Amino acid sequence: MFEKFSFEKFNDEARRCIFMARLAAITEKSKNIGLPHVLAGIRKESPAIFRNVNWAKLPLKLARLSPENLHSASQSTGEIPLDAKAKRVLVAAPELAKKLHAEQVTPTHLLAAILASDARLRKQFKKAGMAQAPAKSAGSERGKSSERARISRSGIGYDLHRLAVNRKLMIGGIEVPFEKGSVGHSDGDVLGHAICDALLGAAGLGDIGTHFPDTDPQWRGVSSLVFLRQVRQYLERKNWKIRHIDAIVVAERPKLGPHFPAMREVLAKALAISVEQINLKAKTHEGLGEIGRGEALAAHVIATIES
Ligand code: MG
Repeated sequence: MFEKFSFEKFNDEARRCIFMARLAAITEKSKNIGLPHVLAGIRKESPAIFRNVNWAKLPLKLARLSPENLHSASQSTGEIPLDAKAKRVLVAAPELAKKLHAEQVTPTHLLAAILASDARLRKQFKKAGMAQAPAKSAGSERGKSSERARISRSGIGYDLHRLAVNRKLMIGGIEVPFEKGSVGHSDGDVLGHAICDALLGAAGLGDIGTHFPDTDPQWRGVSSLVFLRQVRQYLERKNWKIRHIDAIVVAERPKLGPHFPAMREVLAKALAISVEQINLKAKTHEGLGEIGRGEALAAHVIATIES
């Protein structure tokens, strides 16, 4: 019966409330899960919501379904359908949360949806001491709930391109004046490409080669800023926000430090973040290897994102 509902937007507490509602229905030997059972589930999981409520003043059925009277999970078997009212509440709660700009449905949203759907219950709870309409406190819980739901992830990116004459040297979305430029199917921007990979990695969205294959002629000579803007959109679609980017560009020459302010500005614009969220560092390769001989340059990036 639950498969019709998406609990994706429910936080852990709200999910447990529904689980407990089912136990309450089992306890009562009820054929359906009704609003009193959902209320009992909320009471079990989030008693603080009812701190001003005198349960003795509520109808016997509600009072009887106290947390200590619920059966343990081990005693519960089989499917119990939700009744029509409970179904409506499970649909209304995510809508209410959305209206209040909350990222997840909390037990407070569940309670607010229940009371909004049933005038009689609303009256009873008011009589029993519920001071404030839960919809209002659900609103004030907004910051708290998003705080609780915040998830942070990091991803790494690395790229290397050969350097050759008669090529532009594109790094971090800008052209750096130099006698050589990077060889690549697109613009060969090591920093732009490594940032893309770090962001995609953090979001679990694969890598730059999957999204912009170098076998596809549409990406020939394309600016890394196009890739970055596209990656930003991929992240936005999955509700990820870019928190921070830290990068090292490894090149023997030219000196990159003086170009960093311009790069940060261009990159920040493409990613729709502030320049303070991008940190760039330059390293030489101490004359060693292909980078040290000036035949290539590379970039290492770590990106942190949050949901
Ligand atoms: Mg590349």
